Amino acid sequence: MTKRIPLVAGNWKMNKTIAEARELVSSMSARLREIGGVEKVLCPPFTSLMAISTMLAGTDIGLGAQNMYWEEKGAFTGEVSPLMIKELCKYVIIGHSERRAYFGETDETVNKRLRAAQKFDLTPIVCVGETLDEYESGRTEAVVARQIKLGLADADSAFAPRIVIAYEPVWAIGTGKASSGENANGVVSKVIRPAMSALFGEATAQAIRVLYGGSVNAGNASEFFNQPEIDGALVGGASLKADEFAAITKAASRLDRGQLTID
Ligand code: PEP
Repeated sequence: MTKRIPLVAGNWKMNKTIAEARELVSSMSARLREIGGVEKVLCPPFTSLMAISTMLAGTDIGLGAQNMYWEEKGAFTGEVSPLMIKELCKYVIIGHSERRAYFGETDETVNKRLRAAQKFDLTPIVCVGETLDEYESGRTEAVVARQIKLGLADADSAFAPRIVIAYEPVWAIGTGKASSGENANGVVSKVIRPAMSALFGEATAQAIRVLYGGSVNAGNASEFFNQPEIDGALVGGASLKADEFAAITKAASRLDRGQLTID
């Protein structure tokens, strides 16, 4: 039986000039390259993608964009298309909660991006997760199930196993207040995999990687990676520190899953 290969992705958000990005990659790439058994992905801002893609060429460290528009080209001032992303990246983050909260993204626009990723053969890292208010009022299950159902609607079943889901409770992002491993694991097993199963069948639901995101650091990473349903992490703040990110990646490399993953 093939395994779900763990994945750790660093979301740098709106941080680092090109020079700073180069410096950060220089300080972490040798360490990351020594860590096997885990897919490693860096997601710098658009402006640094070209420089970092040159630095990562020939390594096993992947490059991802933090967002993209869904149209291929045209009069969409300020947007970046999947065709352009595809020239540099293998991965793209879709539907991050900051984009939903500050830039008007909805489940419907997440779905348009998802289908653009499919069309352009990009591996999407689709973010889902409830706000504090939704968490406190017991709506986690309904919100996350809806985000999966609408965000992933009409994806091809052949493409579905490539999709990576990042469960990121909004109340845990950048707050230093991570979810417990047990709580995150429960959302994955009770909501995310069943929602994937309803869309694509049980085999695909079991094959898909599900990451946890929200205040992951070197100290708490293992708590998540020890959970049976969590296959890695989407890391924000701690991905800007070479030591922290390398330590988180190392912790994920110890994961040993018994399920299929499709490259
Ligand atoms: C994120 O931006 O996806 C994230 C999880 O941020 P942080 O690790 O800083 O909470």
